[in-house]
Amino acid sequence: MARLPLITPDIHFDEVVDDFRAIFESGRLTSGPYVRRFEETVATMINMPHAIAVTSATTAMHLALAAGDVGPGDEVLVSDFTYPATANVVHFVGAKPVLVDCTEGRFDMDPTDARAKLTSRTKAILFVDPFGQPARHAELKALATEHGLLLIEDAACALGASRDGQPCGSDVDFSCFSFHPRKIVTTGEGGIVACRNEEHAARMLRLRNHGGVAGEAGIEFIEPGFNFRMCEVQAAIGLPQLGRFDGIMSRRRELARWYLEALEGAAGLHIPLAAEVDECTFQSFVVMLEDDINRLEITRTLLSQDIETTLGTYSVHAHPAFASYGYKPGDLPQSWRNQRQSLTLPLAYWMSREDVQRAVDALQAAIASQRSQA
Ligand SMILES: *Cc1c(COP(=O)(O)O)cnc(C)c1O
Repeated sequence: MARLPLITPDIHFDEVVDDFRAIFESGRLTSGPYVRRFEETVATMINMPHAIAVTSATTAMHLALAAGDVGPGDEVLVSDFTYPATANVVHFVGAKPVLVDCTEGRFDMDPTDARAKLTSRTKAILFVDPFGQPARHAELKALATEHGLLLIEDAACALGASRDGQPCGSDVDFSCFSFHPRKIVTTGEGGIVACRNEEHAARMLRLRNHGGVAGEAGIEFIEPGFNFRMCEVQAAIGLPQLGRFDGIMSRRRELARWYLEALEGAAGLHIPLAAEVDECTFQSFVVMLEDDINRLEITRTLLSQDIETTLGTYSVHAHPAFASYGYKPGDLPQSWRNQRQSLTLPLAYWMSREDVQRAVDALQAAIASQRSQA
């Protein structure tokens, strides 16, 4: 029986070989026509006028904060249940990450907790669409509008997700996407930062490229910047996947539906799903185990049967990296429980209905065995 992985990148060498040859023969490896085509394609998909290709979602968020003038003295409300990159970038622009707990029983940012943590120094809200499920955008946007805050969306997993008929990443000041191999579309490493505002876009374009702007007498360096440029080979890897994006998405949703059916009435777990199946990307298919179940032990048991699982994601406040901001593990209880009890199941595009059933049967057996020994 095949090993069931968390994800398999949906990439095929025969789709890219001609483009690779063309890039090699042109000698133009850094940003050029492939990167521009990649940017235009994503901009259209997410209905944003500006999409700027960068090296990762992490550098996308870094550019957004820099272009939004977020820095020392500012506070940013950040989803606590996320990959630590979301909070790291706030730290590295010199602002203070103020971590916000999850909505009870769910994975997304709780707007009530966000409101409670507002201060006169709050400058922005940086919220996550967890695993490609749309966050509570309307409430967060209302909060941002009421207090004049920048609204930044960590849509790392949410290319193809939607809310109220609008793509995730569209109705915010900045949205940031990832093309890491664990995401829906991959370029190896890569990201996009999108925005609506012309000045923000111009600033991010120059900050991506050392702060320089081309003029008649060569490049003029307007302000200190970064090198966050995507290269041609990365864009050439991603473009064919964007070309068949609808197929990639409907395949993930079909697998998710099979999981939802197979898990109906399952013992020892529930499935926090914040929206309809067709509004989510299922970058990860994540269940919550009940508190008496030891997640690490489940993961070990399933791995012995060649079934890969892992935690959903991290409760950032509970990690030593953020202790200097005064957090102790458990301070944000919903997120802390999510880190301990969430379980990502295998979801690779090539899996069959039988593969899904095999993962579910093995999970149910592992839960039953733990409970019988308790
Ligand atoms: C994957 C991920 C990131 C980091 O993306 P990179 O492209 O690897 O920098 C950030 N936030 C979330 C929510 C993610 O899932």
